[in-house]
Amino acid sequence: MSTPHADEILQSLDIAVDSSGVVSGVGVETWSSSGGEPIESRDPTTGAVIARVRGADRASYDRVVDAARVRFEEWRMRPAPARGEAVRRLGELLRAHKRALGALISLEVGKIRSEGLGEVQEMIDICDFAVGLSRQLYGRTIASERARHRLMEQWLPLGPVAVISAFNFPMAVWSWNAAVALVCGDTCVWKPSPLAPLCSVAVHNLCQQALAEHDAGGALSLCVGGAELGGWMADDDRFPLVSFTGSIPAGREVATRVARRLGRSLLELGGNNAAIVLDDARLDLAVRAITFGAAGTAGQRCTTTRRVFVQRGLAPRLREALVRAYGSIEIGDPLADGVLMGPLVTPAAVDAYRAAVATAREQGGEVLTGGEVLDRPGNFVTPTVIAAPAHDRFPIAWEETFAPILYLFEVDDLEQAIGWQNAVPQGLSSAVFTESMRAAEQFLAACGSDCGIANVNAGTSGAEIGGAFGGEKQTGGGRESGSDAWRAYMRRQTATVNWGDELPLAQGVRFL
Ligand code: NAD
Repeated sequence: MSTPHADEILQSLDIAVDSSGVVSGVGVETWSSSGGEPIESRDPTTGAVIARVRGADRASYDRVVDAARVRFEEWRMRPAPARGEAVRRLGELLRAHKRALGALISLEVGKIRSEGLGEVQEMIDICDFAVGLSRQLYGRTIASERARHRLMEQWLPLGPVAVISAFNFPMAVWSWNAAVALVCGDTCVWKPSPLAPLCSVAVHNLCQQALAEHDAGGALSLCVGGAELGGWMADDDRFPLVSFTGSIPAGREVATRVARRLGRSLLELGGNNAAIVLDDARLDLAVRAITFGAAGTAGQRCTTTRRVFVQRGLAPRLREALVRAYGSIEIGDPLADGVLMGPLVTPAAVDAYRAAVATAREQGGEVLTGGEVLDRPGNFVTPTVIAAPAHDRFPIAWEETFAPILYLFEVDDLEQAIGWQNAVPQGLSSAVFTESMRAAEQFLAACGSDCGIANVNAGTSGAEIGGAFGGEKQTGGGRESGSDAWRAYMRRQTATVNWGDELPLAQGVRFL
């Protein structure tokens, strides 16, 4: 292990590395520990290999999924508040290990320390939410048209859920699914990103401790691997639901395979998020929100601000303020004090950044700040602002490049800004900055933002767990986390009870 913090972080999480540098998770039936090739975990800050994690082969994958099915038969019959107790314990363990888990996120995917800690806090928050939810899985009673009949709608556990997650929220995305699915009575098998296997092992080990204390081993399990393993899950009839978070092309493939077997998929795919800044906006708010939204997490959030539509009157001041704010972003080791931007996740991500900047220039964009790959170990680039020509003549802005590149467009008015914002295929997050109540309401109306998330005087990035999270169009339509997103993890049953002596038929039909 050649990264300075790595030993300490792994030890503080009781992650055992054997003499050949391979890490194992705990549990036999909950962890695909045999057969597959070890997957390398690399530190994006130095490029060094941190450790290797054993991947799943087909036999160990089948064993884990079978165990999740067996556990489901029992788990679904426990009262939901009792299921919530296991989630409560998981939340306690996450609290106790918050600092180390946050540091591991920084180590493995390059998030700065406070964002790594924020991601762990998000897991804690969703556990708290799920504990409360375990007493609120409400159904409805409906007035029956038949005498002495009761008509009701109830929600029942669905089955084992496959959770396939992306690298950029290597723990939190799993927790949005797992904490809620558990209280709903489902079991979960997690396939994390192969770019963040250590994060998944750390969380898995804490899960096994929490579940063991509640005699619920097997309710949460882990299979480490890449796209092939994800494909097995998509095709697997043992999963009534596949929850997929990742890029649009991979999501399209997963959704197609799940649909072929008439399974259900929950899709959280790529975004291409915009902030609209009107002439009357508070410039200070807009600049802070855009800078965090565009350069935070090195531009590697699904909700990253990628496009800004600024009204012409404010455009010169916004440009200048953004360039100044970008100049103050310290780049470096994500665990070092004062650093605001860490590395990109892989050298391939650096290549995609470089290619997008070059294409933007070819298409008429002017780099106002950034645009450089840093000459140092690790995957470091500079956060970039590009003044763009008209949106319809700048196709690079229609794609999601997973890097800190912000395109700045000038617009005449709110209508043009909303039109351009909504023109792209993705529909995740959006924001408007204005002091006008009328403009804010227009942005939130049916003629306004077409995204799953729409904010006024708050940036595109940084959602709370209380709301349902997700987006429209090619972002996939899924909703996870808070509000009533839990319904995706249950099956709905309409039940009628006749407590009378007659058998009236609905719609007045007479028979016999
Ligand atoms: P990715 O699509 O490369 O990988 C995501 C996951 O899918 C990984 O676990 C990967 O191994 C697996 N996978 C890849 N191809 C697959 C296939 N053909 N079949 C089955 N599984 C497959 O994405 P990434 O680079 O890890 O993450 C970045 C992307 O995820 C961005 O597009 C980002 O916007 C998106 N994302 C979306 C949300 C959201 O909530 N909408 C959240 C986080 C990330």
